[in-house]
Amino acid sequence: VMRERKKKARLDLRNFNQVISIDESKKEAEVEGCTNFFDLVKETLKHGLIPKVVPEFRAITIGGAISGLGLESSSFKYGIVQENVKEITMLSGKGIITCSPKQYPDLFNALPNSFGSLGYVLKCKIDLIKCKKYVKMQVLKFTDPKIYFKELNRNLNVDFMDGVVFSPNHMVLVLGTFSDSVPKNEKQLNLYRDVFYVCLQKSNNKDILYLDTANYLFRWDKDAFWGIQYSKPISPILHNKITRQTALRPILRSDRHLALKKVIDWFSPKDKYEELIQDIGLQPKQMPEFLNWYDKNVGAYPVWICPLKKMKPNGTYPLFDFKGKIIVDFGFYTRLELKPGMSKNHHVRIVDAKIMKMGGMKGLYSKNTYSEKEFWQIYDKNAYMKAKKKYDPKGIFPDVYQKIIRE
Ligand SMILES: Cc1cc2nc3c(=O)[nH]c(=O)nc-3n(C[C@H](O)[C@H](O)[C@H](O)COP(=O)(O)OP(=O)(O)OC[C@H]3O[C@@H](n4cnc5c(N)ncnc54)[C@H](O)[C@@H]3O)c2cc1C
Repeated sequence: VMRERKKKARLDLRNFNQVISIDESKKEAEVEGCTNFFDLVKETLKHGLIPKVVPEFRAITIGGAISGLGLESSSFKYGIVQENVKEITMLSGKGIITCSPKQYPDLFNALPNSFGSLGYVLKCKIDLIKCKKYVKMQVLKFTDPKIYFKELNRNLNVDFMDGVVFSPNHMVLVLGTFSDSVPKNEKQLNLYRDVFYVCLQKSNNKDILYLDTANYLFRWDKDAFWGIQYSKPISPILHNKITRQTALRPILRSDRHLALKKVIDWFSPKDKYEELIQDIGLQPKQMPEFLNWYDKNVGAYPVWICPLKKMKPNGTYPLFDFKGKIIVDFGFYTRLELKPGMSKNHHVRIVDAKIMKMGGMKGLYSKNTYSEKEFWQIYDKNAYMKAKKKYDPKGIFPDVYQKIIRE
């Protein structure tokens, strides 16, 4: 678990956590809904295969990523996790239903961003691709946001693309390609020793780094990007090569960070700080304007950048729609001091307002300050409610707005 749960009666589906089968010839895995991506990748790698999109935290489950918006550095090619799933068996409000783009498509398409409000994913068939043993990363450095965000629109022949903004004049793009081996003179990272984002920050233009494929896919997991670094007193310990490889080693996993968060809370009491874990989405051409606004009004760095390709025509998904061919995920994961006069959700509130004004969208997994009216100005209420009434006529599951405001 990455977050503390409020205890309440709930259906326990944790045992639905098995990889049922892997079909090498069809390049497809049948997998239960609560299987996490780390366990799935462990199995698929035995066949030289991986899912097309693997969210970067090891504990994210297939069902959670389908009903959230699972994306990663292959999303510039393959879109969100749900778009690489052929068939989903759900426990809906009307019983067990198997849906796909052809069978009950209204249910299938309403799932991205629905957060369990239409039922639970029990199992699914997920697409796989061939991979190689290593990923070669080329780090490109930029100093002009206009040029940087334009680059994300280019159709580059690589397997992975993401980036990090360290400041408005220090941005990196990381282009990943599969590789069979690591040349002798090249650097292979060890993520217990090396903090991944620091390696990117220190890289020169066109530097080459290598990771084996499993470590590449979960390269952001150990430090939750830089999310566990925001407490200044403990940050040096988390960056230290020796403590990382010894005492810290067992907890350098996103699903074991809760204990660490308690220590951070002690140094940065929650009432004095605002937790800011947000992923917002805008078109590449809007990003320089947003970055300029963000720098003045939020100013927390680093920021994760991940391009996501539109795979289906507008209007396909009621809870996930955007203008243009590509949307850029701009993710910031930190804790900011609240200055006198700021409300406890100050930064989330101003980000939500800015995104609404610019016609963007955001990952709903984190804190949201939208009123119900504002929320349904962004998403397609008619199509979602139609599916909700059809597949959950008795309202067994809360609707998506109630869920994202409560969580
Ligand atoms: C700190 C943090 C950072 C994140 N960063 C990223 C990121 O960089 N990239 C990315 O792709 N995503 C990211 N996410 C979002 C993540 O993909 C979604 O929150 C996803 O829904 C989490 O899946 P989970 O398996 O952990 O589900 P949980 O956190 O357990 O649940 C999340 C929601 O999904 C629903 N859900 C869970 N399992 C199922 C199921 N089997 N069927 C139907 N609904 C279900 C739950 O009801 C709940 O509403 C992040 C989330 C957090 C908390």
